[in-house]
This record gives sequence, structure tokens and C-alpha cells, in this order.
Amino acid sequence: MPNQYEIVWKACLEIIKDNVNEKSFTTWFEPIKPVALENNVLTIQVPSQFFYEWLEEHYVTLLRKSIKRELGPDARLEYRIIVEKSGGKQSIVNYPNYNSGMNENPESFMPITVGNTIKNPFVIPGIKKINIDSQLNPIYNFESFVEGDCNRLARAAGYAVAQKPGGTAFNPLVIYGSVGLGKTHMGQAIGNEIKQAFPNKTVLYVSSEKFTNQFIEALKGNNVNDFIHFYQLIDVLIVDDIQFFANKDRTQDIFFHIFNHLHQNGKQIVLTSDRAPKDLEGLEERLLSRFKWGLSADMQMPDYETRMAILGKKMYTDGIELPQEVVEFVAYNITTSIRELEGAMISLLAQASLNKKEIDLELAKKIIKNFVKTTSREVSIELIQKTVCDFFNVPVEKLKETTRKRQIVQARQLSMFLAKNYTKNSLKVIGKHFGGRDHSTVIHSCQTVLDLMDVDKEFRENVEELQKRIQLSKL
Ligand code: ADP
Ligand code: MG
Repeated sequence: MPNQYEIVWKACLEIIKDNVNEKSFTTWFEPIKPVALENNVLTIQVPSQFFYEWLEEHYVTLLRKSIKRELGPDARLEYRIIVEKSGGKQSIVNYPNYNSGMNENPESFMPITVGNTIKNPFVIPGIKKINIDSQLNPIYNFESFVEGDCNRLARAAGYAVAQKPGGTAFNPLVIYGSVGLGKTHMGQAIGNEIKQAFPNKTVLYVSSEKFTNQFIEALKGNNVNDFIHFYQLIDVLIVDDIQFFANKDRTQDIFFHIFNHLHQNGKQIVLTSDRAPKDLEGLEERLLSRFKWGLSADMQMPDYETRMAILGKKMYTDGIELPQEVVEFVAYNITTSIRELEGAMISLLAQASLNKKEIDLELAKKIIKNFVKTTSREVSIELIQKTVCDFFNVPVEKLKETTRKRQIVQARQLSMFLAKNYTKNSLKVIGKHFGGRDHSTVIHSCQTVLDLMDVDKEFRENVEELQKRIQLSKL
């Protein structure tokens, strides 16, 4: 017979499972052990302090909601943490669930889906403006957002909007870009900044999905007017992922209505989308044309330096330290999205925390392999050429031409030098890859690089940086 706490915890896990992705579930919830249930306090055991902090920071609402659902409104949660002592001894520390006051307001939108009842926040008569919960997460702010070429326009426009909501030409501000590049972060940062600077303004962040669901509920409950009325109270409306409005004609209709009202009254609208407005299929022309009134700014994948800066900032705020070579390795190899970048770092920390192991390059390589598709990469002449050209910001084709521009000559010579050192190709083959130059040119280039490295410190540093990047790409 399982114990009562095991039964309760199992039921909680069912709810949790529906609300987090599989990876998070395996990493953060499977290792948890229920250990006691007394006076409506459920105690769960977690493997480390870090683990506990992570749960409290990221999953407290979900944990609380699921436990209350199982045990009623008075239920509480306590943690038991296994603390490693010297000599391999373990001791146990109990912690309360700190953030238990969070999201107490029953009228706030539910940040998670427990079952399928969505509370409709608009039926309360005489709703007070001041009571509207902005649905913002304070960790997404301008401080924690790293600027780079990839997001400069969006950030600048976002910042301008935050200083003067409704008072710039950027209305609406549409931020677009593919998944995991910081759109939600920027949208929320704008909201948080405005709330700080203009406490009287009502800011609301909502995903287009939630907006749609609320609208459907309002239709069912016959209170569409309340719904519209509520949204018309907002001073700064941030709607995330508007691509989900596609082909939902009635929702678009109502949104159009609200949009016009807010815009006419000088209220600020911020929208995000996973593609440029012109590529949004299934959206009515009259809405798309409204989007063109303001500014559309795109977000791209950050380059290597910005990725390093993002990891650096993340470690700093989380108070964690990783060896420099591990950070470089992660930044170099994760090129798909910032979310993946953070995911990789979190996996490293989780693994290290679970196995009580230091994170070194070896462990990092093992874990990162799960994140990158190509597990083993040969260093090819093409890869070297691309690495060098990215570094100097010159087009790869130029290496094959006869241009004598200094920067290109340098990139060409360096690529040959690196190709000789990092690949097994003959001088002849290398020469071929550079527009059919002969082997003596390759020898000459290598010699020039060696000579320059002797006398020019900056040049030497560039070569070292490139060598590092090429090393890193050899998983
Ligand atoms: P999107 O909404 O575009 O899918 P998110 O805004 O959710 O992406 O970003 C994914 C993760 O990456 C978030 O944790 C976010 O904080 C982080 N992130 C994105 N861009 C930056 C940035 N420029 N600086 C720091 N962190 C960032
Ligand atoms: Mg998003």
C-alpha cells in the first residue's frame, strides 16, 4: 500500500506534467521524493540546495496550485534538502515554501492550466483599474536584456516606448523573430519599465492564446461586453505571439475593435510575432495595415560575442560560476536560440547538482551533445574559411578572388595557415580552395602569418581567438 503522501504527490505530478515540458519534468520533478504529510503540510525531498532554489524560483506557483488542488486551500509545502557534508555524510535541512504569498489574488489570470477551467476576470462588477494584475514577470527587464547587433533596433524602440508610452511613432510596436530570441523578454521589459516609471498606468501582458481563450469564455458566458470593457481600460497592452490569431476571425474582429479604441486614445500597444507582419498568413488585411502604422523591429540570433555576454549575465544574476572554457564551449556550439543557450546551461547545472560533480569541459561536451544535432564535426577548410570570415566580417567568396585589399589578404592568409594546421589536406588541395592558388602561395601565406604573429600583438591575439574557435567546433 502506498502512503498517503505518495498518493497525493503522484496526483500532483499528474497536474505538473500537463504544465511543463518533458525535459523540465524529468530534470526537476522526477528526482523529487515525497516524504511526509502531516497537518496538511506535504514535505518533499530534493537533492540539493540549488535544486530547491530552482524550484522556488521557477515552479513555485505550479507546485502550490497543484498541492492546493489536492489538499485544499490550507495545504502547505515544505522541502527537505539533502546537504552533502564532508566525509560523504548527508544531513537534512527543512525549508518552508518561501514564496507562498505569490499570486494570491484569485482574480488574477491563472498562469497555469489546472484542468480546463479558466477564471474569467471580467465578470466582477465595478472592477477597479488599480487591481488589474499586469501579468508581468519582473525578471524580464531591460537590465537583464543583453544588447547586440541582433536586437539593437527592437531594444531601442522598446526603450523609447517605455519612456513615453503612446507618445512615440512606434505605436503599435511590433517585435518579430523566430522562437527563443527574446521577444517575450522585450515585451515584458517594456511593461515592467513602464510600471516603474508610471505607476498610474495600467499595463497588461497577455498572450494571444490567452486572449483568445478569454474571449471564447466571454462568448460562452454572455459577457463579451465586460471583456471589451476590461481591455479598453488598459493603458499599455502587450500581446505576445499574435501569429496565433491566424484564422480566428471572431477573435481578430474583437481585437481590431479593442486595438482601435486604444490607439485612438493614445494608448500604447506592443505586439510580438514569430514572423514579419507581411508574412502573417490568416490575418485580416485591416489588422495588418494597422500594424504598419507603427514600427516593426526584428530580432535575430546573437553572434558569438553576444552569446558570451548573455551567458555571463545569466551566471552573474544567478550567482553561478562556470569555467571560462565551458562557457565558451556552450556559446560557440549553441547557435539556434537563446532559450537553447540557457537550456544548455541549466542542464549543465542540474547534472552537476545531481551528480555532485564539477562541471568541466568533458562533462559539458557530453551534455551539450544532446543539444546540437551534429555530434562530431570534422574541421574542414570550409569551416575554417567561414570562421575566419565571420570573425573579420568579410564574405567567404572574397577569399577565392584576387582582391588585394588588406583585410581580405589577411583573412585569406590566415585561413590558409589554419587550414594547414587543422586539416590533413595537402598544400595543393588547400590552394585549390582559395580560387586555385598554387602550393607556393600557401607556404608563403603560412610564413607571413608566423612572421606577423612575432611582431604584432593584436594580430597574434586574433590568431589565438580563431584557433580557439576552431578547437571549440571540434566536438
Ligand atoms: P521568444 O519570446 O522570442 O521565444 P524569450 O523572450 O522567451 O524568446 O527568450 C528566451 C530566453 O532567452 C528567456 O529566458 C530570455 O530571458 C532569454 N533572452 C532572450 N534574449 C535575451 C537577451 N538579449 N539578453 C538576455 N537574455 C535573453
Ligand atoms: Mg515568446
